[in-house]
Amino acid sequence: MSNSDSKKPSEEFKNNRLFRTLRHGVGKAIADFGLINEGDRIAVAVSGGKDSYTLLLVLEELRRRAPVKFELIAVNIDSGYPGYRTDTIEDFFVKNDFSYRMVPSEHYAIIKEKRRPGSSFCSICSRLKRGALYEAAQTLGCNKLALGHHQDDFIETLLLNQFFVGSLKSMSASMLADNGIITVIRPLVYLAEEDIATFSRQAELPVVCCCCPVCGTADVQRKRMKQLLKELQADIPYVKSSLLKALSNVHPRHLLDTSLRRDSAGPGTLDIHSAYPASLADLDSHVCQQIED
Ligand code: SF4
Repeated sequence: MSNSDSKKPSEEFKNNRLFRTLRHGVGKAIADFGLINEGDRIAVAVSGGKDSYTLLLVLEELRRRAPVKFELIAVNIDSGYPGYRTDTIEDFFVKNDFSYRMVPSEHYAIIKEKRRPGSSFCSICSRLKRGALYEAAQTLGCNKLALGHHQDDFIETLLLNQFFVGSLKSMSASMLADNGIITVIRPLVYLAEEDIATFSRQAELPVVCCCCPVCGTADVQRKRMKQLLKELQADIPYVKSSLLKALSNVHPRHLLDTSLRRDSAGPGTLDIHSAYPASLADLDSHVCQQIED
């Protein structure tokens, strides 16, 4: 989308009721977390999945309505997996008049060469893709990078970190990247994956497969979390909203992290971390969604 107000890239979705609901949720996240400011130039990571397409369409709709001026540029990283339909994604950008950058890479070749036997495919793939996204955003003169993580990603990550890493954390809605230049924002934090999936079907978004060798077989632990949440929802219908709310309702004095204690009597002796993987990257986690969707 060239970001020209004479163009109407998401016009056809405007009367979609669900789209308006999604737009409202993103608008609330932007307001709650101060995600977008006047003059921002935002790279929007688009992998060709339902979440990233939705993110782009909703942000564009908000851009056209917002009292503040900001720019959007869709960015696609092609990891080089055979069969990945970048042409379909680019066609979507062109048809909807988005400003965009397609970034080819040799990631697949690098992974095949560097990956140690038995190590996670996703771990190296995600790190390469993240680096490429930061680099592309910087090259394009962007100060922000928008990723398509939704409410379910936040909740599942919270559970994964507790169950497998021994850490009480999820993801941030807005965080300055390690490079100190790009701020990563996650405007879909309040959106349910189910609603995004329904919208994607209704709007017939041209979703493409990542075509990596572990596509559909990675994410085992995250799938377990999804299933667990589904089972819990049968008894506790509001369990997801409660877990999401918990992330913004933290009571440090009622936790065991000694670094959070004002009246600390010295370092604690509890060291649960040593018994667990250092991070989610060590698990069979769904790093695709940690990056783009
Ligand atoms: S599932 Fe995603 S992160 Fe993992 S290897 Fe495939 S494309 Fe990369």
